[in-house]
Amino acid sequence: MRQIAIYGKGGIGKSTTTQNLTAGLGEMGKQVMIVGCDPKADSTRLVLGGLAQKSVLDTLREEGEEIELENIMKSGVFGIRCVESGGPEPGVGCAGRGIITSINMLESLGAYTEDLDYVFYDVLGDVVCGGFAMPIREGKAQEIYIVASGELMALYAANNISKGILKFANSGGCRLGGIICNSRKVDGERELLEAFADELGSQLIYFVPRDNLVQRAEINKKTVIEFAPDEPQAEAYRGLAKAISENKMFVVPKPMDQDRLEELMMKYGFLGL
Ligand code: ATP
Ligand code: MG
Repeated sequence: MRQIAIYGKGGIGKSTTTQNLTAGLGEMGKQVMIVGCDPKADSTRLVLGGLAQKSVLDTLREEGEEIELENIMKSGVFGIRCVESGGPEPGVGCAGRGIITSINMLESLGAYTEDLDYVFYDVLGDVVCGGFAMPIREGKAQEIYIVASGELMALYAANNISKGILKFANSGGCRLGGIICNSRKVDGERELLEAFADELGSQLIYFVPRDNLVQRAEINKKTVIEFAPDEPQAEAYRGLAKAISENKMFVVPKPMDQDRLEELMMKYGFLGL
């Protein structure tokens, strides 16, 4: 079983990308579970066709400790198993701690079955808060992908996340599997992301194009693979699924300083400006 965490700047496309690529893996016949680690509890909406999934923390709050696996895990498209850890009431408590409560609960309820090929953690935040580093800190997820784009803030966050991975690489054993570019159509984006990944000692594992079809599928509460299986964007997500399934490159990243990051931006991004 490969346990994979997806990190990246807020709004970069973590939840969308995770669900679409897991649909790609599901279509290949792989057994997959998604564990949403975001108080918004929106990590599984497309896979579940919009079904309101009750989060682990809400269930615990409302029903106490005596919960059954079927109360918190639902099956979606291609049999993908979906769990939302949920969060504390707004303004109260630490969301990161909720994640570990949920993972522990899943373990004790026997959710991590032998037949699972993949578990994906869709994690909010950029590891600056220790709580959100939980899946890698506790050694749950061994493999990490960072979703980024050619925008400075996305790369800034990706670099910070790499610092988090470096910090927990020894104790938790986590490794960076690559950078996923979720394109924002920035000039020189592919070259910039390749150079950025290379500087980290990692790789650009896949370039996902920007396509409004993603949002059309989203409003229809579906992954692109289900909504428009013959379109190039569905093919892109299949490509990403394949790249991850075949990936052999796992590294302890070498984060860069701010000056170097800006140098890369100047060299590869903003072409012609
Ligand atoms: P958060 O940090 O809030 O959890 P996120 O990183 O999970 O955000 P998403 O919710 O997946 O981001 O995506 C944000 C928006 O970007 C969504 O409305 C989604 O439809 C859109 N989006 C993501 N990827 C693409 C793409 N390749 N092409 C077009 N739109 C996209
Ligand atoms: Mg999200």
